[in-house]
Amino acid sequence: MSPLPLVASDLDRTLIYSSAALAIAGPDERAPRLLCVEVYEHKPLSYVTEDAARLLTELKSAAVFVPTTTRTRAQYRRVRLPGPPSRFAICANGGHLLVDGASDQDWARAVAARIAAECAPLEEVTAHLRATADPRWLRKERTAEDLFAYLVVERDALPEQWVKELAAWAGPRGWTVSLQGRKVYAVPKPLTKSAAVREIARRTGATLTLAAGDSLLDADLLLAADAAWRPGHGELAEAGWLAPNTEALAERGVVAGEEILRRFLARAAR
Ligand SMILES: [Mg+2]
Repeated sequence: MSPLPLVASDLDRTLIYSSAALAIAGPDERAPRLLCVEVYEHKPLSYVTEDAARLLTELKSAAVFVPTTTRTRAQYRRVRLPGPPSRFAICANGGHLLVDGASDQDWARAVAARIAAECAPLEEVTAHLRATADPRWLRKERTAEDLFAYLVVERDALPEQWVKELAAWAGPRGWTVSLQGRKVYAVPKPLTKSAAVREIARRTGATLTLAAGDSLLDADLLLAADAAWRPGHGELAEAGWLAPNTEALAERGVVAGEEILRRFLARAAR
């Protein structure tokens, strides 16, 4: 029997959407019905459409579905996707490869060693962020899994130039900068979703890999796949990012998540 295709999908603003990211168009009475898939501090936080929930459940029997996220493990565990639990998941942008919910220690060690060898330490980056971020637009400063840092910002007040300067500072130090909604991420370059996906493909023997994502941190994931999709919104769409293997969808917001699942399913079932 040939191995199932591997489907590696980003979560936030690709498959699941906060109310601020739903971008529901048209009259309210025709809005898609939504299913809440994440509760945070007793309040609903993330949604998929009801049709997306059905498609995802179907996809999980046609493919090895791998949630592939920059979220920390704790943030990921709050997300309760429809269908049976995934055997594999990728958290912390590739820093943690979960197998049946537990982080693969060998993988985590190998990633940490590579980062230590190739990148400026996290402390240097957080010190720089602290020294240059302006309290007028900075809301929170966080590190994730001792691997990378992110800021929560007031997007309207955040100067574009500051992000550019941060990226120029971070690049030679082996770090990448990504702006996603209200968050500015600084992530070590070797910390990639694609490396973790390749490892899972090796373990499952998958010969076809499909992917989807909306942000700069997903670009390597999309490029590493045999076929990929990106929504009509997000950092990649805004940058006009295109690749020969990646279809740029017109759909924006939560319906883009539904369309991505439709494309995954059509391709995986071929
Ligand atoms: Mg995303």
